[in-house]
This record gives sequence, C-alpha cells and structure tokens, in this order.
Amino acid sequence: MTQTADIAIIGGGIAGLSLAAAIGGRASVIVLEAEPELFHHTSSRSAQQMQPTYGPAPVRALTTASIPMVEAKADAAGVAIYLSRPLLWVHYDEAPDRFDDLLATVSGLTPIGADEAVRLLPALHRAPLVDAAIDLSAVEVDVPTLLAWYRADAVASGTAIVASSRVTAAERVGDLWSLTAGTETVEAPVVVNAAGAWVDRVAGLFGVRPRGLTPKRRTVAVAPASRQVDPRWPMASDVADLFYFRPRGETILASALEDTASEPEDAQPLDDIVQTVLQRVNAVTDLDLGTPIATWTGLRTLSPDTSPVVGFDDAVPGFYWLAGQGGYGIQTSASLAQVAAADLLGADHGLTGLDGVLEQLSPARF
Ligand SMILES: Cc1cc2nc3c(=O)[nH]c(=O)nc-3n(C[C@H](O)[C@H](O)[C@H](O)COP(=O)(O)OP(=O)(O)OC[C@H]3O[C@@H](n4cnc5c(N)ncnc54)[C@H](O)[C@@H]3O)c2cc1C
Repeated sequence: MTQTADIAIIGGGIAGLSLAAAIGGRASVIVLEAEPELFHHTSSRSAQQMQPTYGPAPVRALTTASIPMVEAKADAAGVAIYLSRPLLWVHYDEAPDRFDDLLATVSGLTPIGADEAVRLLPALHRAPLVDAAIDLSAVEVDVPTLLAWYRADAVASGTAIVASSRVTAAERVGDLWSLTAGTETVEAPVVVNAAGAWVDRVAGLFGVRPRGLTPKRRTVAVAPASRQVDPRWPMASDVADLFYFRPRGETILASALEDTASEPEDAQPLDDIVQTVLQRVNAVTDLDLGTPIATWTGLRTLSPDTSPVVGFDDAVPGFYWLAGQGGYGIQTSASLAQVAAADLLGADHGLTGLDGVLEQLSPARF
C-alpha cells in the first residue's frame, strides 16, 4: 500500500513525536517506527532530568527554553509534571581544572562550597569533597507523561503513526522520496531523520553523507540504600563525570557515566558496569547501595562536538536531520521540536533566547 504525506519522519522516539506534535497539522505527517511500540529505545531509558547547566551551549539554551514550555502545558492540563531537583555539581580532586571551567563557562550556577553541599545532601562524605556548585533551576520530569503528550498532540493534529515499519530503502523519484518501510511504501517530498542511534545508517539509505553520529552506552541502576533517603535531595553529579545519583522515591538512581561506543542496537546492562555504579556511589557516600531493583542501558547518540545535528542536508534535497541529541534529548525536546518545525515550514519559531541556534546545529558543520 502507498501512503503519501508532506513530511515523513523516520523514528518514533521523543525526537520524532515531539516534532510531529510541534508541526501541529500545518503539514501532513507520517511517522515510521521500526519497533512494534513507540519509545522502545533511548527515549524510555533516561534519567528523567532537565538541567539547564548540563551540556554544550546550544543544549543549555534549548533546555532553558524547554522547561517553561513543558510547564505551560502541565499547567493547562492541571498536572504536575516536574519535581524540583536541583543539580549539585560535586568536585573532587580527579580533575582540578574542570570545576573552575564549569563556573567560568556555564551561567546559572551558584558556588556553595563543600560544607553546604553536605548539608543539602547529608549522604555525601565530607572529607574527599573539595568544592560544589548548585543549579536550582533543574527539574526531574515525568517522562512517560511527556511522551504521552507528544504522541497525543501528534495524533490530534492528524499525524499517521505506523509502527513495525523499519525504513529499509529510499529512492528519489522526481520531487518525492519513495520509502520502503515494512509492507508500506511512503511518498513524501521531505523526510526527517529522527532515528536515534540509527541516524547515520538511515542517512546511508538516502545516499547522504554520515556525520559521525556515534551511539554511546550509558547504564543506570536503581538500588536501595542502607540509610534513610530523603526524596527531596538534589541530584549529585561529579564534575569529572565519574558518577551521578539522585533519589528515586526512597531508593537511589545512579550511573557511572560510561561512554562506550556501540553499534545501534537494543542495548542491555552489563554486570561489571552495574557494579562500578554501586562502587563509585558507595565510595563517596554513606548510602551503602545494595542489589539493584532495576537496571537499564540506553544509547546516547553524539555528534563530534556533542551538540545535536538539525537542519536540511546541504547536499541531498528533501533530507532533514533531527539527530545527535546525546544525553539531552528529553530536556531539549520541546524547544528543539518547535525550532525544527518552524524551519521545515519556513516559519518563525517565536522562541526567545534561541537566535542563531540552528546555525550552531547545522549538519554542514561536519
Ligand atoms: C541512561 C540514559 C540517561 C539519560 N538521561 C537523560 C536525561 O536525564 N535528560 C535528557 O534530556 N536526556 C537523557 N538521555 C538522553 C535521551 O534519552 C535521548 O537523547 C533521547 O531519548 C533520544 O531520543 P530519540 O528519539 O532521538 O531516540 P530513540 O528514542 O532511540 O528513538 C529513535 C527511534 O528510531 C527508530 N528507528 C531507527 N531506525 C529506524 C528505521 N530505519 N526506520 C524506522 N524507525 C527507525 C528506533 O526504533 C527508535 O524507536 C539519557 C539517555 C540515557 C541512555
């Protein structure tokens, strides 16, 4: 069967669905997802944080713009989607320059010193801690609700969502792309590559130059602590990228921030990495984390400069990148989708603080 649309989006993760929602019926859209269910891969495996002081400059600007957008939606729905979860950057002596660099380059951080950090997060051992800074604007977000909203808004504006339809071939016929996706043929003048860890492979199907977008493993463990956990503690993140952890109810969600390159795949946790998570957090706290009650691994897909890759390809017509969201695809989703939708439609995105952001994300930079 042949279906037609103005825009075919490849990938039913947060990137693809937030874009379909932001287009909002101003063009006809079809979303093609390889898996039987939406959001099966990285989008449902995050740490659920939105942190304006985390990531490279364009990501920080997009995150700052996204937080009030999601909040406005929550207010209109009468739903609480955020928990205040300040981001406490903790500095040990492994990487002496990093803390100073962080304070010098990232606005929105308040230096508070090690004693205050331990007062705010009493599970931290005081002795090895050198310094700390806090981002009070960071929040924990209810990701399942956010994903459900993007999906509902996309469907309400007429988006067709076709699951179990992996795009395996593409051909330019006149001014249209003709895609083979499972048993479907889809024709559209514009295709959006929102395929997460598969983006460079999808580009190859279109004869588009890959941009060095590398999937990297990251594992999270949720474990009980042997001391009482206050669910309101901030999230602690090591400046040297050795660990982060935060309360998840009365348990602890933690990661050792591994960064191992991977093939695009359905990534699964490895025992030695889970043990490293527990060891690193236990070494700097009195949490004494026990056997995890849940673990998961996802692939963060990063460009060579760690900022997303967004915009029309500079060589191949009708091919749009919405890729390389790395560890920031939740926190940037609302504003990035609005910026990309406006770009695709030749409209103004209307967001403040994002002038020039598309130039910074251009696929032509690689
Ligand atoms: C452990 C971990 C913690 C994280 N924590 C956070 C956080 O706290 N905050 C934050 O902002 N971000 C976080 N992230 C990053 C965030 O989860 C990702 O940036 C985001 O989910 C990427 O979304 P996506 O839609 O690009 O990818 P995905 O969710 O992987 O979606 C891509 C989809 O494309 C489909 N696809 C691939 N190839 C094809 C094809 N040929 N045809 C059709 N469909 C195809 C796939 O099946 C997949 O469903 C974290 C990531 C990890 C791994």
